[in-house]
Amino acid sequence: MTLLIKEILKLKPKNQLITAKGWVKNFRANKFISLNDGSTVQNIQCVIDFENFDESIIKKITSGTSLSIKGKLVFSLGSGQEVEILVENIKIYGESNAEKYPIQPKKHSFEFLRENAHLRIRTSTFGAIMRIRSKLSYAVHKFFQEENFQYVNTPIITSNDAEGAGEMFRVTTLNAKSPPLIKNNVDFTKDFFSKKTHLTVSGQLEAESYALGLGKVYTFGPTFRAENSNTTRHLSEFWMIEPEMAFFDLDDNIKLAEKFVKYILSFVIENCIDDLSFLEERLHNEEKNKPKNERNELKLINKLKFVIDNEFERISYSNAFEILKKCSKNKKKKFKFLVNDWGMDFQSEHERYLVEKHFNKPVVIFNYPSKSKAFYMRLNDDKKTVAAMDVLFPGIGEIIGGSQREERLKVLKNRMDQFGVSSKDLLWYTELRKFGTVPHSGFGLGFERIVLFATGMNNIRDVIPFPRTPNNALF
Ligand code: ATP
Ligand code: MN
Repeated sequence: MTLLIKEILKLKPKNQLITAKGWVKNFRANKFISLNDGSTVQNIQCVIDFENFDESIIKKITSGTSLSIKGKLVFSLGSGQEVEILVENIKIYGESNAEKYPIQPKKHSFEFLRENAHLRIRTSTFGAIMRIRSKLSYAVHKFFQEENFQYVNTPIITSNDAEGAGEMFRVTTLNAKSPPLIKNNVDFTKDFFSKKTHLTVSGQLEAESYALGLGKVYTFGPTFRAENSNTTRHLSEFWMIEPEMAFFDLDDNIKLAEKFVKYILSFVIENCIDDLSFLEERLHNEEKNKPKNERNELKLINKLKFVIDNEFERISYSNAFEILKKCSKNKKKKFKFLVNDWGMDFQSEHERYLVEKHFNKPVVIFNYPSKSKAFYMRLNDDKKTVAAMDVLFPGIGEIIGGSQREERLKVLKNRMDQFGVSSKDLLWYTELRKFGTVPHSGFGLGFERIVLFATGMNNIRDVIPFPRTPNNALF
């Protein structure tokens, strides 16, 4: 019987014959094979009696070799593992040239592993990250299904123009060398869809349509942004979760966001403790190499508990602005960007200051200046702010952005005019306000941002299998 290594490690050893299949992590002293199959961060030790073993097979066993091992499961005599397999039979699937195999049994830099993204999943670190990613994704669905949300799939190719969320990737079948022209401009009526189309930057507008019929919905799918921001928090292709709820106001929206992130992080602690502990150890050493002010003070699992155990602080943009302005003046904290104009966008350094120093807990900022936010956010009675909210986390800053949506047709149309959003293209969207409009709200969580947080990694390129970023679409 072939079992996963994760299952084998839980068995009571009593000389039973078992089979394990996987990739060799390490082969020591012609005797000890560390085998891993991706089911757990732990390897199983397989012991060879090399004097009684076919030498030609032993020669083929190196780091990276794939093989099947049959043997007896026994208590281990050595320290470091409880059980091991006494090998009786080995079947080699694929050899791996020891000198050329990029993944050596040692610590590699994350930069090097990014260049070998097709093989980095063989490392303990990426195994741990991707298992956590998978569990998080399961937890997302589990949470919303338990809360009676319906999962909807919104289009990936869209003709929605300028949602205000970011730059878009054009989708076209026109010949780039000689596109059809009309008055010296490209004639997109000749394009595949008879109009300009793009990859979606957000499924929100379509999700709103479905919320106003299904009640509570969520999306979980790929989104694309052609923004040239080469940061450790931005990808050109990322996965976004966007719940949208009829009859929810901003306050309901914030409550849901808090409950949601606490739920999925608790789920990871309950189900991935081995992987978390491994990463905590692995990354702790990495931290020491960073400048002091950039170090994460909390170790990984405590950082997750920091979010789970604390009630999120809620503060309006205006009040947050006052705190930051005062602190800018006091020279208590040196910001790169001074805080002096009401209406300005807070930078990541400001957000992190509020979370990590001032409140020492996750923070939700709400009621943002209307100028800096998108046209669909509900205008407050003060006419200066909108019912928007951002959830801010330690180490990362913004992890969630959401709002109550403008449900009043007249106000929405005004806002679209101000923002130069064509109400002709979004006629369908305005019709949602014409026929049976209701107050509704929603938010967006970049999935990789929460994976980044939950794994303690520093670069978003390392929490998605094959990252897409400016100048890089390898693999
Ligand atoms: P930021 O200010 O960090 O660029 P944003 O204001 O552009 O974020 P929204 O348009 O509100 O973000 O998108 C909702 C969520 O999607 C964000 O809170 C964040 O979690 C995530 N997100 C946005 N842009 C990216 C990106 N380029 N890569 C990964 N995640 C992203
Ligand atoms: Mn952005």
